[in-house]
Amino acid sequence: MEEQIKIAGIVKESIVDGPGIRLVVFTQGCVHNCLGCHNPETHSFSAGYYMDIDKILGDLIDNPLLDGITLSGGEPFHQGKASAILANKVKEYGLSVVVYTGYTFEELVKEIDINTGWKQLLYATDILIDGRFDINKKNLLLKFRGSENQRIIDVKKIP
Ligand code: SF4
Repeated sequence: MEEQIKIAGIVKESIVDGPGIRLVVFTQGCVHNCLGCHNPETHSFSAGYYMDIDKILGDLIDNPLLDGITLSGGEPFHQGKASAILANKVKEYGLSVVVYTGYTFEELVKEIDINTGWKQLLYATDILIDGRFDINKKNLLLKFRGSENQRIIDVKKIP
């Protein structure tokens, strides 16, 4: 069977989900339940559909305008292994990987010794945008983020 990932949808070109022009994959399933979430249809684990990872990769490399992929949600870390397979294939083409997560970087790091999928995805990530959306800290002026608690973390610069 082809490697697959469960998704809510794909946006083939976006300039608001990380630097440059990006193909955005909205993964299906999220436990965080942030008040005011913009993508409530991505929360259910029984909704969405499976897509071949190589099909997503094909869409990415067919478009020379793209700088990379963004994994959004939903929560990409709920499908850490599948997300990491996709992310690593993207990097083989010299393109970048941005990942949005409702977990904080510290929460992810605490688990990586016992959660292989999280470890694989974190290692494949160039830029992590972390933390739950906090409606009390919402700021429409923020670049790539919805609320002020969320951070843009250059994972490769972390020693
Ligand atoms: S983590 Fe993201 S997708 Fe999940 S509830 Fe929060 S804002 Fe919505």
